[in-house]
Amino acid sequence: MRRFVLPLLLLALSAMPLSAQKVCAHRGYWQCPEAGYAQNSIASLRLAQEGSFWGSEFDVHLTADSVVVVNHDPSINGIPIHTSTYRELLRTHLPNGEFIPTLNEYLHQGAKSSCMLVLEIKPQDSVEATIALARQCVRQLRAHGLLDPSRVMFISFSYDACKWIGANLPGFGNQYLEGKVEPEKVFEDGINGIDYNWVAFHKHPDWVSRAHALGMTVNVWTVDDPEEMRHLRDLGVDVITTNRPDLAVELSD
Ligand code: MG
Repeated sequence: MRRFVLPLLLLALSAMPLSAQKVCAHRGYWQCPEAGYAQNSIASLRLAQEGSFWGSEFDVHLTADSVVVVNHDPSINGIPIHTSTYRELLRTHLPNGEFIPTLNEYLHQGAKSSCMLVLEIKPQDSVEATIALARQCVRQLRAHGLLDPSRVMFISFSYDACKWIGANLPGFGNQYLEGKVEPEKVFEDGINGIDYNWVAFHKHPDWVSRAHALGMTVNVWTVDDPEEMRHLRDLGVDVITTNRPDLAVELSD
C-alpha cells in the first residue's frame, strides 16, 4: 500500500496550482482604454483596484508651493512641476481629461480598496527636497488612515529617500530601485527590499536568493511578456510590476 502513497502525493501536488503571483499595476492600470491611457490617473488606479491586483504603483513629485502631485515625469505637457505652483499645473490635463491628481485626491481613491499602494518617491532637485517630499507623503498617508505596512510600501531611485524611510518607518516595505547595488549593501543601509529592472535579474539571478536570505523582499519591473513573467516567478521574485496586469494575473501554470 505504502508504495502508492508517494506517487499519489506527487500527482496531487502537481495538479495543485502554484499560488498566484503577486501582480502590481505599473502607474495604475494605465495601458487600458477605460483609463484613457492616462498613467497615474485616478481612473487608472480605480481600474487596478477593480482588477483585484495585489498592488498599484504610482509616482509623486513636489510643486513649488509644496503640493504633492501624482505624476511620472518631472513635467506635465512641458510645464515643470518643481518650479510651478499647483495652480499653474491646472492649465493642462492628462490624456483622459483629468487634472493632475494631488496625492490627497489619489489617496482618497486609494483608501477605497485593499489594493497595496506602491508609492514611488521621485528624486527631487536636492536631497532636502526629496526628504521633504517623503515627509509630506507620510503625513498624508497618516491622514487617510493608510500609514500601515499592509496598505502602503515605498520605492525610490533615491538612496537617501530609501534610507530615510528605513530609519523612520522600519516596519514598512521599502525598496531601492537602481539595480546596480548588491542586496547585502542595500540591507546594510537599513533598506529592506530591492525592486530591480528585470534586466538586472538576468545579469544577477542569485540576487533573489541572496536578498531572501537576508529577509528582504524582491520586486521586479516592468515585465510585459508572459514568458518573462514565468521566468521571474520561477526565480522567486515576490512581486511582478507590469504595464499589462491582465497578462500576469494568472501565473499559476
Ligand atoms: Mg514609478
